Amino acid sequence: MKIGILSRKESLYSTTRLKEAGIKRGHDVRIINPLRCYMNITSHHPAIHYKGEELLGFDAIIPRIGASITFYGTAVVRQFEMMDVYSVNESVAISRSRDKLRSMQLLARRGIGLPVTGFAHATKFTSDLINLVGGTPLVVKMLEGTQGIGVVLAETRKAAQSVIEAFRGLKANILVQEYIREARGSDIRCFVIGGKVVASMMRTGGEGEFRSNIHRGGKATMIRITPEERSTAVRAAKIMGLNVAGVDMLRSNHGPVVMEVNSSPGLEGIEKTTGKDVAGLIFEFIEKNAKPGKTRTRGKG
Ligand code: ADP
Repeated sequence: MKIGILSRKESLYSTTRLKEAGIKRGHDVRIINPLRCYMNITSHHPAIHYKGEELLGFDAIIPRIGASITFYGTAVVRQFEMMDVYSVNESVAISRSRDKLRSMQLLARRGIGLPVTGFAHATKFTSDLINLVGGTPLVVKMLEGTQGIGVVLAETRKAAQSVIEAFRGLKANILVQEYIREARGSDIRCFVIGGKVVASMMRTGGEGEFRSNIHRGGKATMIRITPEERSTAVRAAKIMGLNVAGVDMLRSNHGPVVMEVNSSPGLEGIEKTTGKDVAGLIFEFIEKNAKPGKTRTRGKG
């Protein structure tokens, strides 16, 4: 099959691994930088041009759209969908997953366990906001943050008040969340492909750190997840409409709670930790599912 990997950088571990895994399975794999694609959106013959030529004959694409290029990246994915090219994750699902508030509202509506969470933009009613999530300790998150930056643990009411007020000064959208102490600085990443958890790992923060992000010095280990964690991960991916997803959860006293569902989950941590050929499994999924015209949205979303 002719398969495009939409990625800005060929040298990224995930991109390199996908290319390698696809070639190994006998596919014609091309890496396409979505930011270098240009297209005619008004024509009856939707097309994408890249480096002076039209992109033709693709059976499927694997979108690896970074958070900073969601807007243009999803437009390119949508154009492929309009051309009847199968996308492993659909453009609407990617956009949906990038909106943290919308994602949490959708998951909550379907009964997925979440940490008790409040959203705010610029309220002066800090005390009421703190009460809304059950008081302190709590975690305040800047919505625009990634890799644990902008995630603050406030142990006391005073600390929580100062942090929330500081974020208000920055006019940032914030999320105020119950602190899951019993997770003890660890979270679980489940890698879901086509409705199955294919690999999972536990990430644990460094000494004295409640954030488990690898970028913040966290370490990953292989774990055996519980049936409840498995079904939560699968359901969360399904609700988001993602065929490939990284579901991040915390182990709380009241079962697994989902923090985030990622539409371009990295392969390096999960493959190196579990020794599984996750990239190969993504291609296996494409081989079974990529048929022309199978994209539900056809770029209309
Ligand atoms: P980012 O998306 O920037 O990585 P997260 O929301 O994933 O931010 O938070 C970073 C880390 O902080 C998580 O991996 C987890 O270990 C920890 N953490 C986040 N929220 C909570 C919470 N409500 N209770 C306990 N730990 C949390």
